[in-house]
Amino acid sequence: MRTVVVGAGAAGLWCALHAAERGPVTILAPGAATLSATAWAQGGVAAATAPGDSPEAHAEDTLAAGAGLCDERAVAVLTREAPGEVRRLAELGMPFDPAPTLEAGHRARRVLHAGGDASGRVLHRFLADLVEREGRIRRLDGLATAVEVEGGRAVGVRTADGRRLVADRVVLATGGACGIYGHRTGPDTSIGDGIAMAWDAGAALADLEFVQFHPTALDVPGHPSRLLTEALRGEGAILADARGERFMPRFHERAELAPRDVVARAVLRVREETGGPVYLDARGVPDVLTRFPVAAAQCHEVGLDLSLDLIPVAPAAHYFMGGVLTDTWGRTTVRGLLAAGEVACTGVHGANRLASNSLAETLVFGRRAALAEDAPAELPPLPISEPIGPAPTLGLLLPAVRELADRHLGPRRRGPELEAAAERLAAGGVAAGSRSATLVAWLVALTALRREESRGGHFREDLPEPNPAWRLRQVVTPRGWSALPIPATMGR
Ligand SMILES: Cc1cc2nc3c(=O)[nH]c(=O)nc-3n(C[C@H](O)[C@H](O)[C@H](O)COP(=O)(O)OP(=O)(O)OC[C@H]3O[C@@H](n4cnc5c(N)ncnc54)[C@H](O)[C@@H]3O)c2cc1C
Repeated sequence: MRTVVVGAGAAGLWCALHAAERGPVTILAPGAATLSATAWAQGGVAAATAPGDSPEAHAEDTLAAGAGLCDERAVAVLTREAPGEVRRLAELGMPFDPAPTLEAGHRARRVLHAGGDASGRVLHRFLADLVEREGRIRRLDGLATAVEVEGGRAVGVRTADGRRLVADRVVLATGGACGIYGHRTGPDTSIGDGIAMAWDAGAALADLEFVQFHPTALDVPGHPSRLLTEALRGEGAILADARGERFMPRFHERAELAPRDVVARAVLRVREETGGPVYLDARGVPDVLTRFPVAAAQCHEVGLDLSLDLIPVAPAAHYFMGGVLTDTWGRTTVRGLLAAGEVACTGVHGANRLASNSLAETLVFGRRAALAEDAPAELPPLPISEPIGPAPTLGLLLPAVRELADRHLGPRRRGPELEAAAERLAAGGVAAGSRSATLVAWLVALTALRREESRGGHFREDLPEPNPAWRLRQVVTPRGWSALPIPATMGR
């Protein structure tokens, strides 16, 4: 079985390593590690490995974060299999730090780090070295532009430089799409190519209205919005307004450790109220420079000292809960096309991702995609209930998409603005525009407009409450809309 894996983050690399047992594997991705969100991760991998913890407890925390929209089967797979993936990695020599840590939303110490807050970089380098040593995996430097489909089956990939890679199966592992936003914590190039390729191949997409915004990204004009990990707040850092006063206790009983969407909206509100910046104050965190070397270096780059200065922060797009709809083996609705990692949507995150579940997801579902049988996806029938208007064929220029996304598709949304944004995105662009980013932004705007409620990462100022009638997952293909109801026994 010839496998082409598109993308070389944790999902692509781990998938390729296991797929190599079944035949030749090609990984197609740009060479630079910095283009993969995996290398940027600062928290760690969530897995119930500590005494007293259990996959069931991890599942309950994941379901609580997911605000009623998780697929309970996918959650069970993730939480049961994550400890095994961590064990496998440790046996192969992955240098995890000795003790798991606690993060917001987890009831137990279950987040495994490596190199303190450099977990992603350490994991990414470790997996890339394993792939290099494997010998049976070919790495090609380049970008995929399309999945080739013949007779309803994925048969290969086309590349930006005009090559055709023939395959018995194609695994999309292209990461998320936060690069459609100007304010983002991840790589510039995460602009949703995988989602766009899946759409063009006719595959179903799901949950695209759910984007997670991280509340504390560095906010210094002229510099990228680098993430300042939640663990800083876990260790005592507070949020302060322009006068230096703490404000989170008035928004939520858990103050700085409230869910990310609550903190993000509070930060925006306080910035509006005071007309000034909001600061992260980590001066009281013991040994902050040595315990958080990545965060410290990011502040240093902009002339700030994490141990002495107040650090200006603002929310930034961080994680796409939605993506290419798959079953728990990574199979999409197009035979021979699989997806794993952030590009995929197994339903494991529901409407909101629990911190550190995504690296676990890349490992569990990356490996499962490699082991999947060549069979149709185990998904319920998805009848189309309504057609969808014509999708953008050309893209707007990337800065224009990002401006629109920041302004209208952010942590606080409003119906009329979503509608205007969708129209502008559909109206067409230019040959030099970014079609992937435009298409994904258009789909985010439409799904967010249709969801007439607030839930998880999706907040509508004009409809601020959850509505039980919306306890379903929106699915969309080029043929139109359909929905996945959540069985009454599942989620909460
Ligand atoms: C700053 C930051 C901190 C984070 N911290 C954590 C954390 O502590 N714990 C946690 O669980 N999660 C964390 N996350 C989320 C997590 O890092 C990602 O969800 C996860 O790494 C995604 O892995 P992936 O393999 O799916 O995608 P990525 O690691 O993003 O890899 C995608 C790959 O696809 C390639 N690619 C993209 N488009 C194309 C194309 N057209 N053709 C070919 N290749 C392409 C990219 O170059 C890259 O190689 C964090 C994210 C960010 C941005």
